[in-house]
Amino acid sequence: MEDFDTLAQERRARLAAERLLELKQAELYEANRKLSKHALSLSGEIIEKRQEAEHLKVENSRARKDLDKANSAIVIAERRLWDSLETIQDGFAVFDPSDTMIAANSAYLRVFDDLEDVKPGISYSDIVRLAVEEGIIDIGDMSREAYIEAALTRWRAATREPQTVRLWNNQYVKLVDRRSRDGDMVSLGLNITGTIRYEERLKKARYKAESANRAKSAFLANMSHEIRTPMNGMVGMADLLAETGLDKEQRLFVETIKSSGTALLNLINDVLDYSKIEASKLVLNPEVFDLEKCIHDVIVLLQPNAAQKGLSLIIDYDMFLPTRFVGDPGRMRQVLTNLIGNAVKFTHEGHVIVRVVGVPEKGGLSQRVHVSVEDTGIGIPKGFENHIFGEFNQVEDDRNRKFEGTGLGLAITRELVQLMGGEIWVDSVEGEGSCFGFCMSMDVVGESADNRAPAWIKDIVVVESVEAHADILSKQLAALGIKATIFADAKSVLENPPAVQAYLISQRLEDLDIEEVIAALKAAEVKAGILVMAAGMGMKAPDIPDVHVVHRPLVRAELCCALAALETVEISALPPLVLEGPQMPDAAKETGPRRMRILAAEDNKTNQLVFGKMVKALDVELVFANNGQEAIDLYQSFDPDLVFMDISMPEVDGKEATRTIREIEAQTGRHVPVVAMTAHAMTGDEEEILSHGLDHYMTKPLRKAAIIDRILMEHPAECKPVAPMDDDAPSAVDAVVREAMAEATQIGG
Ligand code: ADP
Repeated sequence: MEDFDTLAQERRARLAAERLLELKQAELYEANRKLSKHALSLSGEIIEKRQEAEHLKVENSRARKDLDKANSAIVIAERRLWDSLETIQDGFAVFDPSDTMIAANSAYLRVFDDLEDVKPGISYSDIVRLAVEEGIIDIGDMSREAYIEAALTRWRAATREPQTVRLWNNQYVKLVDRRSRDGDMVSLGLNITGTIRYEERLKKARYKAESANRAKSAFLANMSHEIRTPMNGMVGMADLLAETGLDKEQRLFVETIKSSGTALLNLINDVLDYSKIEASKLVLNPEVFDLEKCIHDVIVLLQPNAAQKGLSLIIDYDMFLPTRFVGDPGRMRQVLTNLIGNAVKFTHEGHVIVRVVGVPEKGGLSQRVHVSVEDTGIGIPKGFENHIFGEFNQVEDDRNRKFEGTGLGLAITRELVQLMGGEIWVDSVEGEGSCFGFCMSMDVVGESADNRAPAWIKDIVVVESVEAHADILSKQLAALGIKATIFADAKSVLENPPAVQAYLISQRLEDLDIEEVIAALKAAEVKAGILVMAAGMGMKAPDIPDVHVVHRPLVRAELCCALAALETVEISALPPLVLEGPQMPDAAKETGPRRMRILAAEDNKTNQLVFGKMVKALDVELVFANNGQEAIDLYQSFDPDLVFMDISMPEVDGKEATRTIREIEAQTGRHVPVVAMTAHAMTGDEEEILSHGLDHYMTKPLRKAAIIDRILMEHPAECKPVAPMDDDAPSAVDAVVREAMAEATQIGG
């Protein structure tokens, strides 16, 4: 039993061991399976990692290659950059934010020559200090410390302007310093020696050119003076000679001398004007002037030429446009004379119309005035419109070159218009005509006393058969405060002549002749002034005693003047009269007021002679002073009403004499007009001369018309009229007209 138990126990033990073995084998198997699975996954990972490593290796070698490439590219770029910086002549340096030099090109370092310390690593302040102490930079009058301080202040400023420095070797360097975004300072030293030298040369050349120009102006001034003085004698004497008894041939010679002399003077004036404009010496003298009258004056002057050709000269001045402006009347007249003169010159038949219109500006304080001069002449070929405005330029064809001229007129005109702030243009059709126009802005001035009708005229009868004329007239008169009653024909007026202060009658009426109308009015004992509107300036005006004539086109100022003159008709019957002109009753000459006293200071005997002859026709007392001192003495003893004063006289000149006269007058409160007579015709001369107390200015050669005009203007009311004493002598008015005609023949030529 025991054995059985033992056997059973052993069997049980063996079975248990066998089960355990089985279990352990199963565990081992499981462990082996896991192990082999793990080994398998590990070997997969290893392969992956190996592949990754392989890939990384490839990547790495590519990156290294790229890096090498990039490095060599950087090296090349850097080398190129430095090669470039080295090749430029200008200095280049870079400083870090602490102002230490990082790099500089040789051009920069070369300035410091042998100074070993100047190299990358040096501070900017040390560079400046060395440059100053070693005398590399020319510090001018500044002390070293001040210069260094100023240079460093500039360097540290938030922004800095380029600075030019002069080096010891006379080279100029322009320092341009810019801070970069990361705080570095890039410093350029530009060598501008060439530019500076060029500028110096330019400055010298400009100075030379300016001196030459000044010399030219002075030469021109002197020449004009020198030429005008003898011309004074020539033209003046020829003028006087023309008034003596001459046979036909002699008269022709004298007239030729006169017209050639005047033409020469015009030429001198043109050249002088052009040179003055060129040298920017021409200045405008703005003053209040009447544009309508200015155009009218030019037309009157050109009328004889136009009349000779049968041309009508017409002014179409916009009725609502003011007439008084601020501008330079002399220069405006010159522009108009040139354009209208040319229009007359280049037109054989037809008309020349001057039209003036304006556009208000600045609320009516100023006007943009447009003036056009329209002709029916030869016209300008296509393509020449700009050419003719050039100096000495003309249209060179058969038709044109029959006309005299210098080709300077339009060049001067254009410059003058531009100087006045305006523009000029031309429209033309060859063979049909031309229209030259200009426009400019001018300030408007209120109407003058000249443009006012006499207060005693309230009602006027207008006899005018052309409705348009009648309409314009009644508007013009209404603007003057006069009520106009219009009659289209004379007969209805004569049936029952209204009681008005004046009759304004057209020369051309449909029903009756003007002479008949006036005779009828006189027969009806109409107590009114009679004013006849002559048909046109080309047409012979009626010559009827006691009847005033006013010419068409009617200029407002002229109309007012003519209306004012009607007064003299009223009072002409009451002796003794103070009337100008030949209407003066003879008796008044003996017993009437004293003669006007004129003092002329002139040291040159020829000029005295010419002056004396020029005013010979006038009934005035003329005394000559041979120098300024005599003029002062005679001013006190002779008590003149008007003084003509030569400026260049020995010892006391005209300016000093006038100053003394004005001092004397300061005690008496009188003011005698003093007119300068001078050959100095450059710009600025007039202002300078007038600043010595003279009132007016005349350039030599003196024009008889201008002298007579001035005498008539200054004629005191209490003096005898200055009209001629004897009926055979040419009247002052005639003389003026003849003179004007002589001038007119030269206009535009
Ligand atoms: P000038 O009249 O002295 O020759 P301008 O400068 O005044 O000089 O004129 C230049 C040229 O322009 C004239 O020679 C002429 O050929 C041309 N010209 C000017 N005005 C007119 C015009 N109204 N009609 C035709 N041609 C003209």
